[in-house]
Amino acid sequence: MSRQITSLLAIAAVAVTLTPATASATPRQPAPAKSAAVAQAKAKAVDCADEQVKCLALTFDDGPGKYAGTLLDTLKKYNAKATFFLEGQYVKSRPAFVKRMAKEGHELGNHSYTHKNFTTIEPDAVKSEIQKTQDAVKKAAGVEPKLLRPPYGMLDLQTSEVAAEFGMPMILWTAGSRDWATKNSAEIKKQTLAVAKRDGIILMHDWVKQTVDVMPSLVQLLQSRGYTLVKVSDIIKSQNLQPGDAFPLPEGWQN
Ligand SMILES: [Zn+2]
Repeated sequence: MSRQITSLLAIAAVAVTLTPATASATPRQPAPAKSAAVAQAKAKAVDCADEQVKCLALTFDDGPGKYAGTLLDTLKKYNAKATFFLEGQYVKSRPAFVKRMAKEGHELGNHSYTHKNFTTIEPDAVKSEIQKTQDAVKKAAGVEPKLLRPPYGMLDLQTSEVAAEFGMPMILWTAGSRDWATKNSAEIKKQTLAVAKRDGIILMHDWVKQTVDVMPSLVQLLQSRGYTLVKVSDIIKSQNLQPGDAFPLPEGWQN
């Protein structure tokens, strides 16, 4: 397993200048050439190691929640990507959202089937929670999650071993929006802007209505501060995580 993570975490954030807004008065180019160029730019993968790109990953847990459709509309409008750590029982009840998430280029992660604390149940029960969610996502969207976020961010050696069996690293977060606690749009925005940083992973919830409500303004603000909203896999690409590794490293934990 990788032991380079501690030193990688110490890399300081690099200041990046904001991209100036393109002048809107520029006359339109003939449609075909421009569309082709735009399509090509979109298809190009984000490189978070490029110091011109300031990546940030918004992650939404416990869903799909009932407001996921509105959230997906916002993400689409602002060309932002997100990662959804899905709870299998809701994947089963709201499969259309999951299918849409995959289709629109978002990342799907596994967040158990019924949100059990993995450190309090037997390994077979952990396996079952993960497997049932893998199966539900596969059925809904045709893809299988490659990342695991244990419920409550609670993990231990047993959780790591089971995650390794599924070939998945365990993804926590660099900071939370505290949306579940405040349930207040202004507070959620303020907190998220305060903790956003290069290569950060922010914990949010798409079942919190105030989070979904504030997303259009929050996404625009983050983008105006130079952030490119990306998938977790874009952020961790340079970390060389092995199955069963945790990132970011919890206190006292060594991969
Ligand atoms: Zn959760």
